[in-house]
Amino acid sequence: MKVAIIGSGIVGLSSAYFLSNSAEVVVFERRYPLYGASGRNTGGITTMLGNKELIDLAKRSMKIYDDVQGEVNFNFLFRKDGYLKVAKNDIDMEKLEKEYYLQRSAGLKVREIDPFEIKNMIPGFNPKSVAGGFYGEGGVIFPWPVIWGYEKGCKARGAEIKPQTEVSEIVVENGEVKGLKANGEFFKADFIVNAAGAWSNEISRLAGVSLNNVVIKEEICVLESLKPFINPYILNVSNGVYLSQSARGEVVGGIVGKETNELNTSSSLDFLIRYAKGAVEMVPSLKGLSVLRQWAGVYDCSRDGMPVIGETEVKGFIQANGLGKHGMSIGPAVGELISEMILKGKSLNNFSPNRFQS
Ligand SMILES: Cc1cc2nc3c(=O)[nH]c(=O)nc-3n(C[C@H](O)[C@H](O)[C@H](O)COP(=O)(O)OP(=O)(O)OC[C@H]3O[C@@H](n4cnc5c(N)ncnc54)[C@H](O)[C@@H]3O)c2cc1C
Repeated sequence: MKVAIIGSGIVGLSSAYFLSNSAEVVVFERRYPLYGASGRNTGGITTMLGNKELIDLAKRSMKIYDDVQGEVNFNFLFRKDGYLKVAKNDIDMEKLEKEYYLQRSAGLKVREIDPFEIKNMIPGFNPKSVAGGFYGEGGVIFPWPVIWGYEKGCKARGAEIKPQTEVSEIVVENGEVKGLKANGEFFKADFIVNAAGAWSNEISRLAGVSLNNVVIKEEICVLESLKPFINPYILNVSNGVYLSQSARGEVVGGIVGKETNELNTSSSLDFLIRYAKGAVEMVPSLKGLSVLRQWAGVYDCSRDGMPVIGETEVKGFIQANGLGKHGMSIGPAVGELISEMILKGKSLNNFSPNRFQS
């Protein structure tokens, strides 16, 4: 069985990793494996998500990250110091509380935490900046070694990864995929997996399939190093500002992105001003630190916030996209589902692309 995977982000490589023990797998990457959102994110890993299906994917992904690190012998620098969601007002606290009950019923160890306890956890945190928060398992993974490690593992299992190879055509005959064209060359395939992230709508069009995912642009930056004092990953759900600190002390953070029509990764001064205000409000000791690097990335989100995973009306054309803001938290398990669907015929009703057709 020949499987062509388009995109070498976390979804494409996780799919390739699981598939390549039993199938002939080629991963096509237009640029290089860290080019997409999987090489541009802050690596916040959480199971504290908004519904049972996403929580299950995130729980499974945490386990897969641990397994793959061992199997491939590659350190993903996964620090499990917890994930903290804070809110500035009572309305947002009520939303977090609803999620909290759902998360507890799904078996997660989550607890409410008051602003002064947050200050005890993170010296220098301004307790007046938030109304409260919820703290649970998770932490920070370093996205680059994740992608490098997965590449190593995929190759060891026999998959081929082709960087600088842009898919420009998908060949469909009688409602069934026959293969694709990349850099002018034809590759035969029984299955084509669309793991192209923010570019998934374009890839779907090549197969004559409609996919209406929202494209989000998100900006982030790195501040100069301070002796590590911010252990958990912090997300302020009221203004979207998030931050964490790397093992070498750099403060990495951004603001949850907005829908865009342009697939560009330019950076803006406006972002820096808004981020500086939100970050310094929560952690005043960040004031005056220099910005070392600034960048942006694009990712896709389905219209209902659930990933799009499954076969389309074109036989053999598989969607594996729409993961949204928590793609690194759920991506490994999405890859596993893709392989179970292709190799074992497992049906994935909750995530099916057909749910948008009615
Ligand atoms: C700034 C930022 C911060 C984020 N923070 C977090 C976080 O803290 N935690 C979290 O869980 N998630 C986070 N995310 C989201 C997460 O990064 C994404 O959901 C996830 O990486 C998407 O992975 P993917 O494999 O679907 O797509 P990508 O990683 O984008 O991979 C798609 C690949 O497809 C390739 N491609 C496109 N078109 C073609 C073509 N025609 N031919 C061949 N290849 C093609 C692209 O070059 C790209 O490499 C963040 C994202 C951004 C941008």
